[in-house]
Amino acid sequence: MPEGKSGPNVHRLDRIVAEARRNSEQREKTYREQALKIYPWICGRCRREFTRANLQQLTVHHRDHNHDNNPPDGSNWELLCIYCHENEHARYLDSAGQNPSAASGELASTATHNPFANLKDLLKPKT
Ligand SMILES: [Zn+2]
Ligand SMILES: [Zn+2]
Repeated sequence: MPEGKSGPNVHRLDRIVAEARRNSEQREKTYREQALKIYPWICGRCRREFTRANLQQLTVHHRDHNHDNNPPDGSNWELLCIYCHENEHARYLDSAGQNPSAASGELASTATHNPFANLKDLLKPKT
């Protein structure tokens, strides 16, 4: 029987990971609701206004990029539309160098990294 892959430790780890993910989703929901209560539904960058109909495009940005820093007075939050939010993180990643973990979780679905960007060069025959 092969060791590792299906051992009890792996299953335990799976459960811990699933639990952590659930906790962070729960936490995200909570601070988003709080931020939407505190702040007007306007993007802090482009000043676009939001209503219930398009509220899902309004996201909560953490000013210090630390998702664990959620003071109840909202001082670390900023409401940004998904476009401005993406820009904000792209800028941050640029200035901070390669640190993909900084933005993970909050903007997981907006990754712009293209693993095939260099494929053309790799396939180019060396002459
Ligand atoms: Zn915006
Ligand atoms: Zn953010």
